[in-house]
This record gives sequence, C-alpha cells and structure tokens, in this order.
Amino acid sequence: MSKRVLIATDKPFAAEAVKGIRNVIEKAGYELVLLEKYTEKQQLLDAVADVDAAIIRSDIFDKDVFAAGKQLKIVVRAGAGYDNIDLDAATSHGVCAMNTPGQNANAVAELVFGLAVYAIRNFYNGTSGTELLGKKLGIHAYGNVGRNVARIAKGFGMDVYAFDPFLSAEAIEKEGVKAVKTVEELYTTCQYVSLHIPATAETKNSINYDLLSKLPKKALLLNTARKEVINEVEIVKFMEERTDFKYVTDIKPGNHDELVAKFADRYFSTPKKMGAQTSEANTNAGIAAANQIVDFFENGNERFKVNK
Ligand code: NAD
Repeated sequence: MSKRVLIATDKPFAAEAVKGIRNVIEKAGYELVLLEKYTEKQQLLDAVADVDAAIIRSDIFDKDVFAAGKQLKIVVRAGAGYDNIDLDAATSHGVCAMNTPGQNANAVAELVFGLAVYAIRNFYNGTSGTELLGKKLGIHAYGNVGRNVARIAKGFGMDVYAFDPFLSAEAIEKEGVKAVKTVEELYTTCQYVSLHIPATAETKNSINYDLLSKLPKKALLLNTARKEVINEVEIVKFMEERTDFKYVTDIKPGNHDELVAKFADRYFSTPKKMGAQTSEANTNAGIAAANQIVDFFENGNERFKVNK
C-alpha cells in the first residue's frame, strides 16, 4: 500500500510550498493528506491515526500524538528548532524525528539586520542613531543562522566574532570570522551580540545578568533564537541599571508587557516569531521535509534524525 504523508499545520504553509511538497510526495507514489488550521488537538489525533509520515511546523507532537499515530514512522519538523516534538515519546514509539536544518537560515539572518538597524536608529523615532559599519558583532553560536549572519555582516563592513564550543577555531576563522574561546570573551569584546544558540539544558537562562554585564557601552542584544535562553528576571535588572543597553527580539518573552512598560525606548519584540516567515524559507523547509521523508522510506536515510 502506498505511504500516506500528513501535512499537519495549524499555521499553514504557503500554497506554493504545499504544491512543492505535493509534487515530491506524489512523484514517489505516496499520498498527501492535508490538515491545516486545526483548532482542536483531537483533529490532529484523528489525522495522525492512519498516516506513515508527518510534516509539521510549530505543531505540538507530544505523547498523545505519538500514541495516536499507530503506523507513524517519521515526523519532520519543517524548520530548525524541534522543541515542539517530545523526542522521548518519538523514540519509545519507534518514530524517527527530523528537522530540516539550514533551510530558513538566510531568512532569520536577514531579519537580524532588520532588527539591528531599527534598534540603532532609535526605532525610527526621528532622532540621530548609529551605524553598523566598523562595529563589532558577536555571533553567539555559529550554526546555519550564525553563518548567514556573518556573511551579511561582512557586507555591512562589520568586524565579526563568533563563539561556538562545538566548532574548531579553524572552521570559524577560515570564513573570515574571529573565533573567541569563551562566551565571556564574546560579550566583553562585542558591542552587538546576536543569539543563535538552541534552547538546551545548558543554554536555558544562560543569558543572565553576569554575562550581560560584560557588554561594552551602548550594547545591543539581538535574539532570534529562543526566548528560554534569556533569564527574564535578570535582563530586567540589567536594563534598569544599564540605560545605554537595547534589547530586540523575534521571540516575544514571557515578560514582554513589563519590558514594554519599563523600557519602551530600548526594547522591541516582533508581534509574532517572524524569522522564518518568508515564502522562500517556507517553501525550502517544506520541500526539504518531503524529500527527507521519501529518502527515509526509499533509502533508509536518517541523516537529519534528532532523537535516539
Ligand atoms: P544550528 O543547529 O544550525 O546551529 C546551532 C549552533 O549552536 C551549532 O553550531 C552548535 O554548535 C551551537 N551551539 C550549541 N550549543 C551551544 C552553546 N552552549 N554555546 C554556543 N553554541 C552552541 O541551528 P540554526 O538553524 O542556526 O538555529 C539557531 C537558533 O535559531 C535555534 O535556537 C533555532 O531554534 C532558532 N531559530 C529561530 C527562528 C525564528 O523564526 N526566529 C528560525 C530558525 C531557527
């Protein structure tokens, strides 16, 4: 029997992305099942019951979903972050969970500069701002997004530094970026810091008062990674003391209202996470997910597997 591949998206892909996914799935002789804009979890549980594979975005795949997916073999998060998938549940039900790294990296990186210019031009309030040219940019985690940020930063004439403990200094420096040895060094050196770390046990709450205190005067923190990596209580304390510091984010923090009330002239959050929200990223990630599913079933390729 032909494989059934579910697209389960409460926030749907663009029509063009669905078309691209359908082409890949149907060319492989599989059937595409579409569940978009669902409002109840039960709709997802029903839809997943008789499919072999699922392509999702920020949709929650928890224990219940894996229990309902009796013949599910693979779920692919079309995007980089996969903290919406319960990986242990996937493993215990024998499901391969994957992401599609890199497909939305340029989209996120371009947004970093949209946010940076907005912030250093004083949120377009009509007053005189500053420029990116010649400034030190610290890239906190040199993965797919970080790399694209470095590429664009060089075009702006910035002096680019990066910290990534999982990469060698050579790997970073061969791309014309200065590798620093410690996270503290990144924050001490760079006036602008852009976060590209995943939310892990180690990184959660790690952007705290002590680390932020290392930043030079007139510093800017850009967060297009995850809100969990920021210590929300301590960043407020830091902003109260350091009136020269600005914080802009693409991931609305839990204490957004407090930040707006206290620091309206130094804080900004996009209303909704927008980093990957381009038609190009959408289409790239969706089609990559479809290709990975076909490659998994046809060739056993598990290259982008993220669970054990
Ligand atoms: P990636 O997996 O390509 O890169 C992550 C990098 O982080 C890797 O190079 C890894 O070595 C490094 N890293 C891991 N732990 C670290 C630590 N403790 N300190 C420093 N570096 C560490 O991921 P990516 O595609 O570059 O995405 C980066 C982040 O951006 C993720 O948190 C992802 O969830 C987020 N993201 C946000 C959006 C958005 O819409 N705003 C879109 C895509 C990705």
